[in-house]
Amino acid sequence: MSTQLKTLTLKCPSCGAALDVAPDMERFACGYCGSEQIVQRQGGTVALKLVTDAIARVQFGTDRTAAELALRRINDEMAALDAEAHEIHLVRGANIGPGMLAFMGVFALAAFLVAQSVEWEGAPVCIIIAVVLFVIAAIVHAQPDPHKDRLEELKKQYEALAEKRAQQKAIVDT
Ligand SMILES: [Zn+2]
Repeated sequence: MSTQLKTLTLKCPSCGAALDVAPDMERFACGYCGSEQIVQRQGGTVALKLVTDAIARVQFGTDRTAAELALRRINDEMAALDAEAHEIHLVRGANIGPGMLAFMGVFALAAFLVAQSVEWEGAPVCIIIAVVLFVIAAIVHAQPDPHKDRLEELKKQYEALAEKRAQQKAIVDT
């Protein structure tokens, strides 16, 4: 508290010269380099700020508000992408993919080998099922998967947004 009542010697933030700052001074020009200073008093501390810095700060404040709005928008967009990707995963999970079909084919093939070894008459049926499953798996595998393409697109958009978010976040956090 007493620091605010006596004259302080502070360094000019522009040229580094020692300046005497009287308790009632709020704004003055450095006697050495002429740069304009604002005396900032906060609690027990007193600091000098160049007027140009103070103006930059006002400009920065508007940038920050814009960044905060942008951040909110980016977060909403990312949440929407997330929701769509989640839905696609649910649909794909419910479908039987080529991997699953091939696995069932291997199972049928194993059943055929067992059936043949015990000379069960149903063995030919097993090999037919196995072949059919492999063929279907190959056909399904060859089909273009629009879900997969969309997921890749979503992932790209998500990454681009994450990059933008980091940039805006840096402005907000500074
Ligand atoms: Zn100076």
